[in-house]
Amino acid sequence: MRRAVFLDRDGTVIHNDGDLGDPDAVKLLPGAAEAMRHLRQAGYALVVVTNQGGVARGKYDEAAVHATHERLEQVLRRATGLHAVVDAFYFCPFHPEGTVERYCREHPWRKPAPGMLLEAAREHALDLGASWMIGDQERDAQAGASAGCRSILIGAPSAASDADFFAHDLAEAALRIAHEDTPKVAAGMVTLHARPDVDLHAPALRAAITTAAEGLAERTGVRLRGLDWNTHGLTATVEGGEIIALGFAAELRRTTERWWRAHGGSGPLWAGA
Ligand SMILES: [Mg+2]
Repeated sequence: MRRAVFLDRDGTVIHNDGDLGDPDAVKLLPGAAEAMRHLRQAGYALVVVTNQGGVARGKYDEAAVHATHERLEQVLRRATGLHAVVDAFYFCPFHPEGTVERYCREHPWRKPAPGMLLEAAREHALDLGASWMIGDQERDAQAGASAGCRSILIGAPSAASDADFFAHDLAEAALRIAHEDTPKVAAGMVTLHARPDVDLHAPALRAAITTAAEGLAERTGVRLRGLDWNTHGLTATVEGGEIIALGFAAELRRTTERWWRAHGGSGPLWAGA
């Protein structure tokens, strides 16, 4: 049996502009493709599970949802360079307050119910107890918990949530999964090299990078053992080995590049982007 990561679609993998049944409007969220590539390469089956009440409300039909998912898979293949990204898409077209009569009811597939996850587990021989659910709504966390998976909610931490963990985005969630599922046997080290004309010792820059690294560690559970600075590089040492270190560095690079651009940096902060 394989372990899987179940992914909500709107607001988790792609931008959420309300119900989406238009393939041309598919737009990946930042970091989503890279996160999905890492998860797939780590051996997880990727299964998208999405409520599509827009079908019940008559906004678009099931064929439009299928076309949207085909486009999403194309976009993900292009962005990741992989031949296949998502193993299976499941959607629930039903809604109790719909306007299209045949879809106008509650349904065991509609999150927070776990029906889509259970069906996917049957069809694809997935080990639910070793699997994860990631979504941006509490109903996603509830569906994951009901199916026996661990869950990560994209959003602010809340004691009232069924989620096991919280993350800013899919990339952080993927790092959390790598951290939780990797035996804590060794430390991993990775060095980020600044562009030659960037002074890594500038106090504001150094403080921002330190804050970003500590925040990332706190949000993902990754144990940061140290940051070692030299003139043109920064070496991060984390617990959990090389894969965790590489994932941590990729996320640190992404968040600090954002800070750098927002504070007037021209060109990239790090070399080899
Ligand atoms: Mg969502």
